[in-house]
Amino acid sequence: ISKDLEDQVEFSKYSDGLVPAIIQDSATGQVLMLGFMNQEALSQTLESGKATFFSRSKNRLWTKGESSGNFLIVENIYLDCDKDTLLVKARPSGPTCHTGEKTCFKKDQIHSVGFLEELNATLLEKKNSPEKASYTSSLHAKGINKIAQKVGEEAVELVIEAMDNKDDLFLNEAADLMYHYLVLIHAKGYQLTDVVKILQARSK
Ligand code: AMP
Ligand code: ZN
Ligand code: ZN
Ligand code: ZN
Repeated sequence: ISKDLEDQVEFSKYSDGLVPAIIQDSATGQVLMLGFMNQEALSQTLESGKATFFSRSKNRLWTKGESSGNFLIVENIYLDCDKDTLLVKARPSGPTCHTGEKTCFKKDQIHSVGFLEELNATLLEKKNSPEKASYTSSLHAKGINKIAQKVGEEAVELVIEAMDNKDDLFLNEAADLMYHYLVLIHAKGYQLTDVVKILQARSK
């Protein structure tokens, strides 16, 4: 992160000099929390690499994790279009919320597609723990061909449901397909992000 970011931020737009900073998990894109930074907080963040805010309740600089050890290790900081809001991409070293939750927002409150990332992680975990009984691990035990066949079946079921007007059945088959599709990607040794990267490259 370039040090002159500090000079570009429009702190003076706000009477209290506090600029909102959205903290996003750099690996998953999940919104973790929102904090406020003044020039000093940003400066310290850049210096230490740990997200530091100005806390209005504490009335002082606050490095997230200073007592819990759950720091936010900053990887990148971006400015919005008119330079009055920060987007901080960070790697959390533990739960970000003081409640012990990973994020201050519930799973379904923000960017529901981001849940796919979480599902991807959960399903990968199930693949890697065959000793724990689950439908996912039983699929992996049957092997790639069987999983691929299952994807084919679910795709056909989706096609069939697409042909009439039963939205509920259509959506459920769409979910079935997506689940089995993720399992197949995992069986092949890949992750959802490997597919997303290809789509991103195509849309450049
Ligand atoms: P920490 O910075 O994680 O050591 O937490 C220190 C104190 O900051 C906690 O006791 C909470 O009062 C507060 N705190 C921690 N995390 C958050 C958060 N995500 N949002 C708001 N306040 C927080
Ligand atoms: Zn703005
Ligand atoms: Zn919280
Ligand atoms: Zn189905």
